[in-house]
Amino acid sequence: MPHVVIIGGGFAGVWSAAGAALARERASGDADLRITLIAPDEHLVLRPRLYEPDPDLAMVELARILEPIGVEHLRASVTTIDTGRRAVVAGGERIGYDRLVLAAGSKLVQPQGLPGAARLFDIDTLDGARRLTAHLRNRTDYAAVVVGAGFVGLEAATALAARGRVLLVDRSQVVGHQLGPGPREQIEAALDELGIERRLGTTVTQVGDGYAVLSDGTRAEADAVVWSVGMRASELTREISGDLDHLGRVPVDQHLRALPEVFAAGDTAAAAFDAEHTVMQACQHATPLGKVAGYNAAAGLLGVPLRDFTPGPYVTCLDLGGAGGIFTRGWDRKVMAAGADGADIKKRINQHIHPPVDDASKILAAAGHVYLELPFFPRDDKKAAA
Ligand SMILES: Cc1cc2nc3c(=O)[nH]c(=O)nc-3n(C[C@H](O)[C@H](O)[C@H](O)COP(=O)(O)OP(=O)(O)OC[C@H]3O[C@@H](n4cnc5c(N)ncnc54)[C@H](O)[C@@H]3O)c2cc1C
Repeated sequence: MPHVVIIGGGFAGVWSAAGAALARERASGDADLRITLIAPDEHLVLRPRLYEPDPDLAMVELARILEPIGVEHLRASVTTIDTGRRAVVAGGERIGYDRLVLAAGSKLVQPQGLPGAARLFDIDTLDGARRLTAHLRNRTDYAAVVVGAGFVGLEAATALAARGRVLLVDRSQVVGHQLGPGPREQIEAALDELGIERRLGTTVTQVGDGYAVLSDGTRAEADAVVWSVGMRASELTREISGDLDHLGRVPVDQHLRALPEVFAAGDTAAAAFDAEHTVMQACQHATPLGKVAGYNAAAGLLGVPLRDFTPGPYVTCLDLGGAGGIFTRGWDRKVMAAGADGADIKKRINQHIHPPVDDASKILAAAGHVYLELPFFPRDDKKAAA
């Protein structure tokens, strides 16, 4: 029986599994196709929710998604991909595949040689977020230093400001450098409202017991230093291609194919968004990438036509804690909603990213809707009319 193997149990892996199961359903009659998802954990971790006060709410049991749609779950980590022999090694076992989907995601880039790095916290993984939450539980008026004023650092800093004093540090001279100037004014206003101090053009050069040393030579009080500087794709991408992009991602074509028998999705895939942009390492792209990559991996084996990856509108939504939220549209990140309205959209998105569970028809129907224009997204009327 042909075998589709998917590496990773995040958004891209789970939706690849559902996409492959959908193609199997669409193939004539009872097409024979084995689908196996390999991931070490029992849960899909909803990483975008890890800044919230209770990280344990940010997970969904994989069995409740995979079992109803007839996908096997092997709880293991893949250590090797042998593309020549079409096999992966996981948990010491060699597993053959006819089509492979690489969806092993990304990790926070760790600082190299930073004295006291073992004291750093992060909200990149469930364990990291649990550790930070436990460390600050029952403490009020703590001092926290957040390193990195990008998307994740801004959400961490504004969440931490609910109960403590926060210093936000970034090498760049502006906050939200990667987000561009579109939402900057609102972000700065939110940081001011929450009393978050900024030290721009600097970084942390040492972490000690209760303090951090900054590159400008000053010492800041710090009960917790949260590192949030950049993400990089899984090292497994190196086993697929020698031509990775600056985020360590594999180049893929419009079917999300990296090699004749290998597809990539989510944070491991450098797929074209349009003529000027590649996709972001974001769950809003990991989900449709997974749906298309998994579908195509199975479709090619079953004689079903392949789908092109044609992304929906690019949006961002940032939770700014007690100052609300910001929702933007387009690559210039034009602010469409801020404050309480922005926070309401973020709350709905955070619910919406939970995949359906226990019901095969709902899971497969969702796999068929690659791009959703959600009713709660405010429209850009000029673009909508065009
Ligand atoms: C704090 C935070 C906030 C974020 N906020 C947003 C947001 O608001 N909007 C947004 O769009 N995106 C956001 N993101 C980004 C988003 O979470 C990621 O882009 C998304 O999780 C990528 O999905 P993925 O499936 O590609 O990878 P991941 O979520 O990284 O999942 C990778 C999976 O692969 C498994 N795996 C890894 N290595 C192996 C191996 N060797 N063998 C087997 N399995 C393996 C892992 O266990 C995991 O199951 C945020 C991220 C963080 C950390």
